[in-house]
Order: sequence, then C-alpha cells, then structure tokens
Amino acid sequence: MTKRLTQFKEMASLSNEPIAQITADDLPPIPGIAQPAIPAPRPRWLDTYDFSLDGFSDFEIPAPKTDEEKKRIVEGFFRGLEKLFDPENNWTFVKAFRLSMDYCVRCQTCSEACHTYVGSGHQEIYRPTFRSEILRRIYQRYYTTSGKLLPAFYGADIEVNFKTVWRLLELSYRCNLCRRCVMMCPVGVDNALIAREIRKLFSQELGIAPVELLKKGTRQQLQVGSSTGMRPNAMKSLVSDMEDQIEEKIGRRIEIPVDKKGADILLIHNAGEFLSWPENPAAFAILFDAAGINWTLSSEMLGYDGVNYGVWFDDVELARVALRHLQIARDLGVKKVVVGECGHAHKAMMVIADRVFPGDLCISEMPRESCLPLLYQIAASGRVKFDPSRNNFPITLHDSCNVVRLMGIVKPQREIIKMICAQPLREMTPHGVWNYCCGGGSGFAIMNSLNFGDWRKNVSSRMKVQQIMAVFADVLDPSINKYVIAACSNCKGTIRDAQGHYGLWDQYHIHYGGLVDLMVNAMADLPKPYLEWPEA
Ligand code: SF4
Ligand code: SF4
Repeated sequence: MTKRLTQFKEMASLSNEPIAQITADDLPPIPGIAQPAIPAPRPRWLDTYDFSLDGFSDFEIPAPKTDEEKKRIVEGFFRGLEKLFDPENNWTFVKAFRLSMDYCVRCQTCSEACHTYVGSGHQEIYRPTFRSEILRRIYQRYYTTSGKLLPAFYGADIEVNFKTVWRLLELSYRCNLCRRCVMMCPVGVDNALIAREIRKLFSQELGIAPVELLKKGTRQQLQVGSSTGMRPNAMKSLVSDMEDQIEEKIGRRIEIPVDKKGADILLIHNAGEFLSWPENPAAFAILFDAAGINWTLSSEMLGYDGVNYGVWFDDVELARVALRHLQIARDLGVKKVVVGECGHAHKAMMVIADRVFPGDLCISEMPRESCLPLLYQIAASGRVKFDPSRNNFPITLHDSCNVVRLMGIVKPQREIIKMICAQPLREMTPHGVWNYCCGGGSGFAIMNSLNFGDWRKNVSSRMKVQQIMAVFADVLDPSINKYVIAACSNCKGTIRDAQGHYGLWDQYHIHYGGLVDLMVNAMADLPKPYLEWPEA
C-alpha cells in the first residue's frame, strides 16, 4: 500500500478523521513473526475521545464539545508556549530548547535514526522533525512579524485551532524521548527535548497528561508513597515475603535491611519490581549479602520507589519526587544512593536532578550512582564465586537508553556477562549507545489506556523485536531457552508485552529478565538454579 504524505497544514484539519493511517500492511515485516491484526478503535470511543492524529490515543479525556472549552485549551496552549520561551518560567531547559528550535537545517539526517519512524514504515508524522516543525511554524506565525505578515512565504502557515493543539499533544506522545536522533544530528538539535517540552506545556499549563503518568503516577506516588499504590506497610510486608521466598530458594534466610541508619548505600528500586518481578530485588539482597555490602532499603513514603515520571513530562512533578528521594537519603545518613535496575530513575535521580536543583541546595550533594558499576565491582572482586556453566544458554543484552546512551554506562554490564555466562554475549545490531529503544521509553511502557498499547506493541517496539529475532536467528528452535537481559524495569515491561503480542516465548522460547537475576543464577554455592523459565 502506498502511503499518503501527511502535510503540516493537515494538523489543523477540523475533521475527526485521522490525518495518518497506520495499517499492518505498511509495517516492516519481522522475519519469523506473523503480524497480528491491529484493531480499530472501539466504536463507542469515537464519540467521546479524539483519535484524529493517527487513530490511536491514551487520553481517556472526553474531547471538549463546546466552543468555550475548546477556546480555553487553545488559550492555555498559547500561554504555555510563551512560557517555554521565557527564561523566568523555563530556566531549567530554555537554552537547549531555544537552540533546538532555532538551528535545525532540515537535512533529515535524523529520520532514519528513529526506530518509531522506521518501525512505522516511514510514516511522515513520526519523523523526529515533524512535531518540532509544527511548533516552529506556530511560533513563527503567531510570534514573529514576518510570520504574521507573510505566513505562507515564511512557511508559517499553520492555523491554531483546538484540533491542531490536540493533535500536537498526541504527537508529543509518539516519541520515546530516546534521543537516538540527537546522536545523529550534525548540529545537535534535540527533537526529544522539544517533544518533552510540548508535554510539559500541556501538563504545567493545562493539567493534561496521561493518567498513568500524572494522576496514577507522580500524584499517587506523593500521596501514598508509590506510583504502584503500595503504601509503606505493604512494602514492609512484601520485604518479609521476599525473605521467605529467598529462604525457600537458596536454603538459608537473609535479613533484608530496611531503614538502617548510617548504611553505606541506600538502594532504591522501581517499586514495580516488588510487584511484577520480586526475583529482581530479592537477587540484589542475595548478592549484596554474599558480597558483604553495608546497605539498606527505605520504607519511607517514596523511599522505596525510585520512579519519577515527571522526568518525561513535567519539571514540577519531577522536582517534588526527586527532592523527597534525596531528603530520605540524607535523613538515613547513608553515604550514597544506588539506583536499581530502572533506566528512567537513573536519568531522574542523577542527570536531571542535578539540573533542576540549585548547586547550593545541600541535599543535592548526596552522591547518587547507578547499580551497574557496583555490580561489576562485586563480580570483579572475587568476593562472590560464580559458575558460568549455570548460565549456559544464548543471551543478548538490551541497552536501556537512559543508562547507556544518556549516561554512557556501556562496559560494566558486558564485563559482568563475560564473568557469569557460558556463552558469548550476542550483541544486537545496533547496540551500546546506538541501541534502539525498547519502545516503552518515556512512559509508554505503562500507558495502556484506550488503544495506546496497540500502537506501542505494533509500532514503537517493532525494531526491538526485529533485533531480538535477528540476534537469535540461528537458535530459534524452542527446545533452546534464550534470555534477553534488560536491566530496566520499564524495558522489561515492554519486552514482556511484546513477548506476549508476538508469541516470543510460545513459539521460540525467548524470555527476558534482569542482569542481577542472572548473576545470582550463576552463584556457585546456591543449591539450585535461581532463574525460573515460564511454563513450557
Ligand atoms: S534535527 Fe538535525 S539531523 Fe534532523 S533535520 Fe534538523 S538539523 Fe538535520
Ligand atoms: S527521541 Fe527517539 S523516538 Fe523520539 S524522535 Fe528521536 S529517535 Fe525518534
């Protein structure tokens, strides 16, 4: 099927018809996988919600019906847009934002770098530059003299109405903020930052953000202690259950330290691990115990949940959560915070917290580190004996964008794998800092309202599934169990969904899990394997 090229001006179309159509026929094939059908939005949704960008949406917010409601949103959009360009209101990111808005030379070098654009079969609206260009044209038309006088001549011909604004909101949630395109840009334009700033405009000015990120995300986290809804007592009870499970698995009881004052390390996991993959925090406990690490978890509100969804859409939400994390560490008197296997928590706690907190704020001096170098130190120290033959199956490594591309942590995980696995690591193509996002980055892993999950599984996860299938192409026989290491909670969730959607386990016995789980599986003195494969 030949795709129609979507024009910028179509963003202002008053029709409810999507301006881009995603069909299964347009998607690049994944060898070995029969493309599942992509369901149309349910008819009962169509009267209530807006699907006019591409037929998908996560926004379970009834579309405004009256002109007054629409006007309120358009006016809020303009107010927010002015604030994005104002150093007083956007001191955190205004410089990088302005530079990215001003310096794109429209060479399109970035387009082929984007797994979403390529994975969609080159849908025009998913080009890294498409949403940025819309914002540029709007700014030019409404805020520059040349654009006001001769909009068509200056390419500033986009009308702003409710539909333009709403489609732009949707479009800001079609980018994983993975920043692969930024690596490719010859002048360093950050289209991911522009997407993120559009999200921020809607959240901070109009209170509009995906329910999973705002209401059930940061707000719930601040109110009850965790975005999962887990309260401190529930966390303590889960830790106690985990101690029982560890005893059952390794034949001896380990006391997991909680709220231990003056410990060397406060370890903060993504709380989703406790609920969905408790074997991961349990593996940290087993390994740290064996290595003699002086560490603790926290049972304070937020202290047991490293999630900080504000990093994807809102500076204020981000700062509230990050501040609380650092206060907890300071109150416990620990020497440093170590972030568990959660990519966005790495970004929020280390890279972005340093940007939003003034240098003279004493808690900002609390050292914060990734767990990966520490895991490497443990493995290399010889304090724990590993038997690689216990991990004798094909493995590959998914690089989390936040940990690897953003923070440059590339080697520790690879060195660990050499020490704990019998077979050489199968590197994906591309990998390391050039990896493709799993498709769940920037919140997509947990966004499942309306039909957004269909978009994620079919479009944004597509290149990752292609890579996984390619890397195991010679061992696809289901009698061979295969393991994708994903040292990030949201990546794991995304790969889990893709595994179900594409039948990766059922057809090919491809499973996924954390890195530390594999380390514990290789511990020579454990009586039985730690890893549990899904039922055959
Ligand atoms: S963002 Fe960079 S690579 Fe992409 S079109 Fe603009 S200048 Fe070229
Ligand atoms: S940040 Fe990632 S998903 Fe977003 S446009 Fe760039 S490459 Fe595509």
